[in-house]
Amino acid sequence: MTDKLSLKTPRGRTVAFPTGLFIDGKFSKSSDGTTLTSINPATGKPLGDVSAGTRADVDRAVEAARTAFDTVWGPNSTPDVRCRALNKWADLIEAHADELGELESLDNGKPVWMARDVDIMDSAGCLRYYAGLADKVEGKTIEQTEGQKLAFTRSEAIGVVGQIIPWNYPIQMFAWKVAPALAAGNTIVLKPAEQTPLSALRLAELSVEAGFPPGVINIVNGLGPIVGQAIAEHEGIDKVAFTGSTVTGKKVAVAAATSNLKRTTLELGGKSPAVVFEDADLEQAAHWVTNGILFNMGQDCAASSRLLVQKSIHDDFVARLVRNFEAHQIGDPFDDKTTQGPQVSEMQYKKILGLIQSGKEQGATVATGGDTVQFAAGHEYNGGYFVRPTIFTGCRKGMRIYDEEIFGPVLCVMAFDDEDDAVQRANDTTYGLGAGIFSENASRCMRMVHKLKAGTVWCNMYLALSNAVPFGGFRQSGYGRELGIEGLAAYVQTKAVHWNYGEKAV
Ligand code: NAD
Repeated sequence: MTDKLSLKTPRGRTVAFPTGLFIDGKFSKSSDGTTLTSINPATGKPLGDVSAGTRADVDRAVEAARTAFDTVWGPNSTPDVRCRALNKWADLIEAHADELGELESLDNGKPVWMARDVDIMDSAGCLRYYAGLADKVEGKTIEQTEGQKLAFTRSEAIGVVGQIIPWNYPIQMFAWKVAPALAAGNTIVLKPAEQTPLSALRLAELSVEAGFPPGVINIVNGLGPIVGQAIAEHEGIDKVAFTGSTVTGKKVAVAAATSNLKRTTLELGGKSPAVVFEDADLEQAAHWVTNGILFNMGQDCAASSRLLVQKSIHDDFVARLVRNFEAHQIGDPFDDKTTQGPQVSEMQYKKILGLIQSGKEQGATVATGGDTVQFAAGHEYNGGYFVRPTIFTGCRKGMRIYDEEIFGPVLCVMAFDDEDDAVQRANDTTYGLGAGIFSENASRCMRMVHKLKAGTVWCNMYLALSNAVPFGGFRQSGYGRELGIEGLAAYVQTKAVHWNYGEKAV
């Protein structure tokens, strides 16, 4: 299939890439010819159509991945080969960072600079980090005290892995998934989110240039209940890694368990608290909390969406946040001064506006924002999905805005009395992804670190991650870890070997 999509960006660049499913090293149409349409969230207008897979296409991708695992990858490849391909891919991604950044911005709505300087550069770093670990997949020797016996373990690739990713960081979620899996020797069937199907296709093209053999990486765009579900329940897939909502994560876990009991890692939603004490550097804390909720238009699973602030500084701190929120530059994602683009889709936009309305109806107070953004009459962005950064004060349990993941630029504020009260309120959620502590008292910070139920705790900072540090959830924010050495461990299985070098059976 030679179908290509060619997009002209507002900077005058032409970005062209194949639109088919990437299976066994080639692009092809889906078995029934269906497509899905990518929408530009800044304008609400279509960018173009790409192939949308079927169950038969997932079967085809699994078959290619299995053949590759059994012939050219997994146990039939050397760490050196895997390391080189990952590093070359990282080089190519960096070399095409401007182009990829503009493509990602058109498809997702995030500012180009954010896509390029954060998502794409971090993704190249992630590929390099795991390239460096490809030859560090190790076992251990375990002393056997009786007889002439030896025991050791091997860490082996799991096999064919299914990977289902969301739309908030399309390239970065792609990198987080594929890098450790490939370094450890697994082959892949990956499904991008239907809202953001484009950048994965360009990455697939670059993977060919990087030297990955056909079948090692397969990309099947399509709908969650069709392609995602087919991956989760496929008998030929040995592990599924999922990032997205808790509701869908549970479906994936059930499908994985009731099919072939495939291994599962889940990175799910959150309603993460940032706890600001009266002894914090308030100006710094205001900076981190603003970024914690507004970065990426609030579409971050660990966003600091609940602010718990000590009563004595509540009004002062909220005033600093209102100032920061109102200084946010909303608009053209292709303008490097823009800090906030549109939400990813009309569905998310409407969901956020509905939740904002519920907050007003349930008695929370709008300190700033609370509505959409209007551009000059006739401006094409009036068809886009722009939401004004919003702060609600006076929030309490039982309000939908306080209990539910909004996944938008909406901060819910609640006051607390003392440390114990802060801990109780922070942990009073079914989630456990992230938490922030702001205090100049190191002992208090360390006490809080022990008590907060979250997979990541930030002290006097928020949201920053490192490819070398594990990330994942407590409670209903999921299980398993990505990034760091633990991220590699999620893609190997242990084989124990007992070895007799002289003992006779009696
Ligand atoms: P979702 O969980 O439905 O989608 C995530 C991925 O799962 C997508 O690729 C989707 O196609 C796929 N999927 C959907 N149904 C599936 C199924 N039955 N089996 C297998 N895969 C399936 O998320 P969404 O509908 O796009 O967004 C809804 C909410 O999810 C958001 O408002 C937000 O709260 C949350 N979310 C969280 C994250 C995160 O990083 N934790 C990312 C995106 C969305």
